[in-house]
Amino acid sequence: MIRSSRWIAPDEPLAQPRPCVFIDKDGTLVRNVAHNVDASRIEFMPRALQALRRLADGGYLLVLVTNQPGLAEGRFSRADYGELLRALSRRLRDEAGLAFAGVYTCGHAPGPDGRPACLCRKPAPGLLKQAAVSLRLDLARSWMVGDILDDIEAGRRAGCRTVLVDVGNETQWKRGPMREPHVVCHDLLEAAQAIASARQAPPARQPQPA
Ligand SMILES: [Zn+2]
Repeated sequence: MIRSSRWIAPDEPLAQPRPCVFIDKDGTLVRNVAHNVDASRIEFMPRALQALRRLADGGYLLVLVTNQPGLAEGRFSRADYGELLRALSRRLRDEAGLAFAGVYTCGHAPGPDGRPACLCRKPAPGLLKQAAVSLRLDLARSWMVGDILDDIEAGRRAGCRTVLVDVGNETQWKRGPMREPHVVCHDLLEAAQAIASARQAPPARQPQPA
C-alpha cells in the first residue's frame, strides 16, 4: 500500500539520521506532581532549561518520552493532557527559545505485574523506536535521560546510551545489565555536560536484550 503521495527521486539524497536526547517528563524535566494537567503547576527541575539549551546547541534534537497511565485510568482526559503539553511547549519556547522535535506518550496502564502490557510503556522501548522512525533518528548516537531505571532500560533496549538523574525517585534498585545507567548525575545540566563530554567517544557496546 502506498501511503505517501511524495516520491523520492532516485538521485535525491536521504537526510542523515540525527542524534537526539530522549527526556522523561515527570521527575526529570518537570517536578513530579501526580496526575497533574494544570499548566499553572508546571515547574521545571533545577537548571533544566539551561540543560536543554546546551543539548540543542550541541546538535541534539529534544524528544519527550513519557508514561501517562492516568489517561487509561481516566484520571484526566486526552484534551486536558494535550492542553498541558501545549503549555509546556509554550514555556519552553518563551523561556528558552527551544522546541521539542517530538512528544511521545504511552497512555496505557501497566499490566497486573506492573510491567508494560503494551509495546510503548517504559521500560519497553516502543516510544523511542516510534520516534526514531518518524523523526529519522540515529539511536546509536542518541541518549535517554530519566529519573528511574525504567527510563534506563527503555533507552538501552532502544540502543541508546543512558543517563540516570538520581534525585531520589528510584526506590527499586533491581539491577541487571539493561538497567545499568551509562552515567549517573544529580541534575539535568550535569546530564547535558556528561553527554557533551562523551561526544567524541564511540557508543558503548550494548548488552543484548534478554
Ligand atoms: Zn503503551
